[in-house]
Amino acid sequence: MTSPLRAPGGFPVVGIIGGGQLARMCAGPAAELGITLSVLAEAPDASAALVIPSAPVGAHTDTEAVLAFARECDVVTFDHEQVPTDVLGALAAAGVVMHPTPEALVFAQDKLAMRDRLSALGIPCPRWVAARTADDVTSFGDEVGWPVVAKTPRGGYDGKGVRVIGSADELTDWLERAASEDSPLLLEEKVAFTRELAVLLARSPSGQAAAWPVVETVQTDSICTEVIAPAAGLDPELAARATEAGLRIAGELGVTGVLAVELFELPGGEFVVNELAMRPHNSGHWSMDGAVTGQFEQHLRAVLDLPLGSPRPRQRWTVMGNILGGEHADLYPAYRHVMARDPEVKVHLYGKGVRPGRKIGHVNVSGDDLADLRERARHAADYIEGAISE
Ligand code: ADP
Repeated sequence: MTSPLRAPGGFPVVGIIGGGQLARMCAGPAAELGITLSVLAEAPDASAALVIPSAPVGAHTDTEAVLAFARECDVVTFDHEQVPTDVLGALAAAGVVMHPTPEALVFAQDKLAMRDRLSALGIPCPRWVAARTADDVTSFGDEVGWPVVAKTPRGGYDGKGVRVIGSADELTDWLERAASEDSPLLLEEKVAFTRELAVLLARSPSGQAAAWPVVETVQTDSICTEVIAPAAGLDPELAARATEAGLRIAGELGVTGVLAVELFELPGGEFVVNELAMRPHNSGHWSMDGAVTGQFEQHLRAVLDLPLGSPRPRQRWTVMGNILGGEHADLYPAYRHVMARDPEVKVHLYGKGVRPGRKIGHVNVSGDDLADLRERARHAADYIEGAISE
């Protein structure tokens, strides 16, 4: 494996396991900060491998490949939550510095571990149970009311691994698999939320933390399609409590790097936590253009234990619109049009091939008129997707 070329002056190399768009979007800030990145990519044309010169190809499940990669880096962080526990253990045993640490990361990898820990800390969660049998499912549904939400504890994303069920019969296949793997499923009450929110913050190994304002996330078919920063009309007292909960989670779990806490807002000024992510997150893409310090720069600062940057918004509102793969593979002409039509829209593309529903980019636009910004962000994203032609 060729070593990453170090910048002179004693600057560190940050290794990222996984070559998706989150690793890719660290590249701009790393270049500005003078920090070298190296990425363990799943393929030579992975999103991050296209822009980071040191991008050895290797699987995140291959202990030898991950160890060889990590030995060349001063600190290792993650593009996704999928690195197996035994691989993380081997890295720890070899003395590799990881942020987040495996002890913290497990609460973003395993939704049952997360529910267990957050409940013990008294953080508000939906009612939940670990279920192994159809009887477990039936008695939970009868207790909290049907339908209930079933989740595979590990490996889910963008709603894969989440199923809303009206009876235990709809879960037979998952229960059989859970029994064969000897790992229970997570069941949750179906929360009647008014909207979804996210607290995003960064925490460094020495304990400094900085939180961005609480945002609203809008999902379409379980995929985040829009983020409004800050969440419009949010009770400042609820925002403060949610932020406090996020900071407490980060401290208690020993999270290092960026932490996203996804929340459901309830009627009556309450909230419950949905899930955690310990890496830059879709709910923070707005910060690249909308905050003094964007989440990718902040993640790098945090994992290197550098002083954190200000998370203050630059303008009153920033709206982020995700660009999903549509019918058209050829994005370049549409992207030209969007740039010409609205020079204030910032376009971010991930260098990924178009597949229907796949996240391939996003746009950000900031200003004072929220309704206008939402319209412009949606138009730009829809136009690049090919969903509209004027
Ligand atoms: P993933 O890890 O795939 O993102 P999530 O746990 O975030 O899965 O769930 C995906 C979506 O499903 C959430 O954004 C929310 O809209 C819905 N959802 C998840 N859990 C619940 C719940 N307990 N009650 C109601 N809706 C839920």
